[in-house]
Amino acid sequence: MTTTVYNFSAGPAMLPSSVLQHVQAELLNYQSCGISIMEMSHRDPRFLKIMAHMESSIRTLLNVPDDYSVLFFTAPARAQFSMLPMNLLGDKKAVDYFNTGLWSSVAIAEAKRYANVNIVSDSTSNQFTDIAEPSIWNLNPDAAYCHYTDNESVHGLEFNRVPETGNVPLISDMTSNLFTREFELSRFGMVYAGAQKNIGPAGLTVAIIRDDLLNRASSLTPRSFNYGIMKTEKSIDYTPATFTYYVTSLVLQWLIDQGGVASISQRNTAKSTLLYEFIDNSDFYVNPVTAAYRSRMNVPFMLKEPDLENIFLEQAENAGLLGLKGHRVLGGMRASIYNAMPIEGVTTLIEFMADFAKSRS
Ligand SMILES: *Cc1c(COP(=O)(O)O)cnc(C)c1O
Repeated sequence: MTTTVYNFSAGPAMLPSSVLQHVQAELLNYQSCGISIMEMSHRDPRFLKIMAHMESSIRTLLNVPDDYSVLFFTAPARAQFSMLPMNLLGDKKAVDYFNTGLWSSVAIAEAKRYANVNIVSDSTSNQFTDIAEPSIWNLNPDAAYCHYTDNESVHGLEFNRVPETGNVPLISDMTSNLFTREFELSRFGMVYAGAQKNIGPAGLTVAIIRDDLLNRASSLTPRSFNYGIMKTEKSIDYTPATFTYYVTSLVLQWLIDQGGVASISQRNTAKSTLLYEFIDNSDFYVNPVTAAYRSRMNVPFMLKEPDLENIFLEQAENAGLLGLKGHRVLGGMRASIYNAMPIEGVTTLIEFMADFAKSRS
């Protein structure tokens, strides 16, 4: 008997199985050309077509306005933590950052190497379980930009609206929730996301940037980190992670075939609502995050008896439920339920959690 496996890993994360099957089918012989896509020049028209398809899919999925550019970097999401001040500071000195979790904190530490960082709002005092009301935010109207992490993948904290920052360009790290719900891109100076959570395999970061922000880079910016140069060179100034880009283009097509962001967003809300309702109604599991800011993507939860964590994880693995161990800074468990996770994965997890709680009480 084989058990269906569900992968709750936070990233690299599960991919749609139809995409993996597609990759497998043409791995050795890409579109009858006799070689693998991995072995092809990044300047080959067939690869350029993949890049064009990635861009047009993103424009369709997010209704990208004409005065925004889509850039692709073969670099980690966190490379943007340095690229942002290098490219956007211009002749200003100060930048605004929200601190709502681990990834915000890492971004802030990096920005401090280049600029004076003003913290707009700090969730440290509530252990990153809540976000302060806008009335007490400390925004600097003269900041070069304002940065926030839309979904904190470790703490399971997600903004439920776009912060209002006046004329200061708003920048968002959407690594773990881009393409999971609709939003108005024109409210942003730039959004970016590493691929490995929700978009494709590791090795790619997507950035969508308003064109007036493209050419402010400091002269010390490495050329492969320079937004203006990446735009001019159509994101192939260097050899990109071609295989990753190819798989990503298939995931983007899968998203379009699912009915786009509006319909995937409904499914995501249905999945996370089921899981939070189960946790809240149980006296065995807890999630500490304020209900209004709970992440639809990453659901951390603790066992009320922490001694049972290892046995929980072991039995979960035996039941085909993988990747549930929490991030090392937070401990506990975490279920990452990105776009590719079917609702059956969530209901199977809930059944397992209910059975486990019953067997221990
Ligand atoms: C995973 C993650 C990152 C880090 O991604 P890298 O590609 O490893 O740098 C940054 N921000 C958020 C919100 C993440 O979830």
